[in-house]
Amino acid sequence: MSNYEILKNTKNSYESILELLQNTDVSFEDNKILKKSLDNLEKLYNFAYSNMLKEKENLKTDACCKKCQNDLLISDNINYSYQCTECDENYYNFEVDTNKVWYKKDLEEDKKLNSSFDLQLSYDNKDKTVYIGTEYSSGVKYKCNNIGKLINSIENYCYNYLNFSKKYTIEIWETEWHRDVGEGFVFDETFDSYDKALNRARKLFEDNNFASIEILDNNGEAIYCRDNESEDFYNNGERISCVDKDVLDNYIQNWNEHKVQTFKNSRLYCKNNDLFIAIDDTTGDCWTEEFKTEKDAQNWLLGYKLEKREKEIEI
Ligand SMILES: [Zn+2]
Repeated sequence: MSNYEILKNTKNSYESILELLQNTDVSFEDNKILKKSLDNLEKLYNFAYSNMLKEKENLKTDACCKKCQNDLLISDNINYSYQCTECDENYYNFEVDTNKVWYKKDLEEDKKLNSSFDLQLSYDNKDKTVYIGTEYSSGVKYKCNNIGKLINSIENYCYNYLNFSKKYTIEIWETEWHRDVGEGFVFDETFDSYDKALNRARKLFEDNNFASIEILDNNGEAIYCRDNESEDFYNNGERISCVDKDVLDNYIQNWNEHKVQTFKNSRLYCKNNDLFIAIDDTTGDCWTEEFKTEKDAQNWLLGYKLEKREKEIEI
């Protein structure tokens, strides 16, 4: 279980126990046990929270502070839900405007639509049936003779037949020859999370000496490509590359000596001991910065933290 899931689950359990204590007549003995459980949940929460401080980006929520408008983080105190680090203030749910409380489970209607589709709908007045389908499925017929039933049918179809979950697949090219002739094969496992797919793709590539490997999303788009030169990550049409340190050193040297770059991407990073060094010269300046985590380096390259640029070093 990830630290985030631990936070979410402990917070949910904590709230349920509090509710029990406040709204039912539990006996004194049970009361003691429940209170002890609260203490233990709090310890677990604090433990997961301190681990999350390394990946602070993941503590951000959809809610924002009413006073300063900054994004609120998950509170470090299990008795609250949110905190604003700018205002040094903790908030309960009811003090915050959000339709989605960070630790509560997704409602059916909050489920994300992750792929494109054409909804096909036709009504047959003789049969009193409506047919609903998409280009990917054979569709369903519902009995239907009024507007209310039509709406129910569409709702039923959406909840039961549209594909809401993300699926990632891995495609592999064993040798350069396979790559040149376009003979890849699809690895026979699908993944419900990108991180799981990435870990598996990296391991497969390293263990088997493949020529190249890709991760495809459920639209069949490549979002990660790796070969002997680099690992490329694609995000909304942007590409960033993870390279070996000598490629990055070479890039800096070429930049300083005004030479043509042999590596063809102006956003790249490498792992150096425990740090990640990232370079961005898309603006014509060679910005460089060190990060503790790979995610931070990637986010910076994707421009998520541009406002901090003045603190960076120009080389
Ligand atoms: Zn604030």
